[in-house]
Amino acid sequence: MSEDKSAPHVDARSPWVLDTRELGRRAGLSRPVQRDVEVTKPLGVPDVIVVPEGAKVALDLLLESVVEGVLVTGTATAPVTGHCSRCLDPISDEVEVDLTELYAYPHSTTEETTDEDEIMRLVDDRIDLEPAVRDAVVLALPLAPLCTEDCAGLCSGCGVKWADLEPGHGHETIDPRWAALVERFDDDPASGPDKQA
Ligand SMILES: [Zn+2]
Ligand SMILES: [Zn+2]
Repeated sequence: MSEDKSAPHVDARSPWVLDTRELGRRAGLSRPVQRDVEVTKPLGVPDVIVVPEGAKVALDLLLESVVEGVLVTGTATAPVTGHCSRCLDPISDEVEVDLTELYAYPHSTTEETTDEDEIMRLVDDRIDLEPAVRDAVVLALPLAPLCTEDCAGLCSGCGVKWADLEPGHGHETIDPRWAALVERFDDDPASGPDKQA
């Protein structure tokens, strides 16, 4: 086997990497995989919502040997923390994503007819779950997370959470139509303080 410098490399020591050799190459064989993998870099949008560094992603997967490669199905579950986009309260929640990912065997038809960024590859009989899990989790995170479905946010007058304010709370504001009248009145030279000198 010749060394190809551009060949993809899978780090066998990474906790995201699974060895598929004991699964066997015969289509129809399957093996459940359950493991918790610690996140070393926060996943998601910092200051909005992330799976924080040090959190564990729980993987509950089934590896199946199919004709073209190894099919991975199952779920990944992880804790998320962030801030409500309306009231800025801290949020801690959980995200669960479904995974269905085919890792193609080298020289399989799938490998030869698809791009690497469309269908993942087996490298040295190993699967690197990290990219697929990361993408699925990041996609599943809300762009504008909410503490509760119907969070009313903050009062624009005082910045206090509506949930903490008395019913009927409001601020004295001048109706814009009145404001225009008041301005006209002020502009009237007869009523202004600066008559011509
Ligand atoms: Zn909120
Ligand atoms: Zn207010």
